[in-house]
Amino acid sequence: DVLTVVDLLKSIVGKFPKKEAIFDGTRRLTYEELDKQSNAIASTLKKMGIKKGDHIAVSLPNWHEFIVVIFSIFKVGGVVVPFNTRYSYTEINYILNNARVKAIFSTEEVEGNHLWESYEKIYDSTVHLEYLISVRSEKTNTISFDKMLKNGNQEEEQYVQIEPNDVAIIMYTSGTTGRPKGAMLTHSNIVKTGVMAAQFLRCTSEDVFLIPVPIFHIFGMVPGMISAIASAARIVLTQQFKAEKVLQVIEEEKVTVHHGVPTMFILELNHPNLENFDLTSLRTGIVAAAPVPSEVVRQVREKLHCEILSSYGMTEASPCLTCCSFDDDDVTRAETVGKAMPGVKLKIIDPVTGETVPQGVIGEIVAKSPGIMKGYFEMPEKTSEVLSEDGWYRTGDLGTFDEKGNLRIVGRKKDIIIRGGYNIYPREIEELFYMHEDVMEVSIVGLPDTVLGEITCAAIKLKVGARVTEKELKEFIKGKVADFKVPDIIVLVDDLPMTASGKISKLKLQEKLKKQLA
Ligand code: ATP
Ligand code: MG
Repeated sequence: DVLTVVDLLKSIVGKFPKKEAIFDGTRRLTYEELDKQSNAIASTLKKMGIKKGDHIAVSLPNWHEFIVVIFSIFKVGGVVVPFNTRYSYTEINYILNNARVKAIFSTEEVEGNHLWESYEKIYDSTVHLEYLISVRSEKTNTISFDKMLKNGNQEEEQYVQIEPNDVAIIMYTSGTTGRPKGAMLTHSNIVKTGVMAAQFLRCTSEDVFLIPVPIFHIFGMVPGMISAIASAARIVLTQQFKAEKVLQVIEEEKVTVHHGVPTMFILELNHPNLENFDLTSLRTGIVAAAPVPSEVVRQVREKLHCEILSSYGMTEASPCLTCCSFDDDDVTRAETVGKAMPGVKLKIIDPVTGETVPQGVIGEIVAKSPGIMKGYFEMPEKTSEVLSEDGWYRTGDLGTFDEKGNLRIVGRKKDIIIRGGYNIYPREIEELFYMHEDVMEVSIVGLPDTVLGEITCAAIKLKVGARVTEKELKEFIKGKVADFKVPDIIVLVDDLPMTASGKISKLKLQEKLKKQLA
């Protein structure tokens, strides 16, 4: 059994050396080239004094170098600390210090974000950070990735013994509900989960994976990169999501597996020239990270020829916990996230008593699986809040099992809005709005109210050219649900604030609406 990421690559390179592994829009690498390039970078890292257990940050767009760097860090026994290229100084400073990062691979500028200014400031003020390594940019006083590659030893193999239970990645959560937490994921966590997800989707070396989600998040890293490599498949990376570009690359590269967050599929479906692209190579893909409207699942089948399977998970679980199956009917696929995936155990508990609730009752989802993290890095209290002695992880999400044993996600514990003593689950109402033909995206949040405690506000982004009014949208919901669930306020917005992993940030939305409506 292959249980470290380095062994996984080794076994694939042995079998498919000349097969194309990665295409990032500019370069193509075979599996052998990926292996050799990561050897070269690893040999330089070793010379620089990087040792087993050292933390190395990587903040890059979905470039092939990102994958090369990840493997080179693993080859010297290092721990990869990926982070978002959109982070500001404060967030970068927090992560580099919190995770005691020794070296960082990054690039000068991403989408107008000048990362290097932050690194230089942090470099001067922190004791741990020793090396700044620049990729696709030449900076004075820093080490260049290209030079490391040129001068490194391509032939030298692995340098240290790596155990399955060694930490491989400190992966920061999306920060949807607060400050990102660093989940310590082991080699075994990510290899087992990546292999399991690939088998679940029936992937083979014939498959071509599109990874439009960032590799610096768990979705792109494990069900994306690791699953693809475990299948000896070809990886197509795209940067900065643009529907037009993605549709084009699906056609040109004959993509078969298309992972994505709901927003991506929504934008593709709404592309004016959708019909002009040949998308018949598409086979399947995971849609996850946020609730997917039922309409979208149906339309993706009809218009993208793709059987997307909604799946549920989180950073702390590497991330896959549940997934719909190819045999599930449309309703199941749209309204549930399916059953526990192989090796995963799930329970729904009463958040207060901790007792398992009867089928059909809403409670907190708890999970046990080979993917569950070791804990949060240097946050023992936060870790023991969510991880029990016997390995059960409390997700903070609410759900319920239907009669067929499929999991229905009700929302986050933190998202429940309590209006005048009644519980409102925003997702239930959001789903209704998605049935309106003019609605592109919607998010419902609670706002403080002196009388009711909280009132509900729906922020809605309309489709291009739509003319529907706030009043008409309210009428649309009335009669479909109990009075108290009809949003008190409806606001039309140009854009909803997003986290980099592609979900609507309710926290930011709430702050914005509070200011706007004050
Ligand atoms: P943070 O923990 O920092 O607040 P986050 O929870 O958004 O951020 P991730 O680990 O990226 O960080 O996301 C996991 C969460 O995403 C889950 O706990 C769940 O709330 C939500 N989620 C994932 N998949 C789905 C899905 N299919 N449907 C609904 N929600 C989902
Ligand atoms: Mg979370």
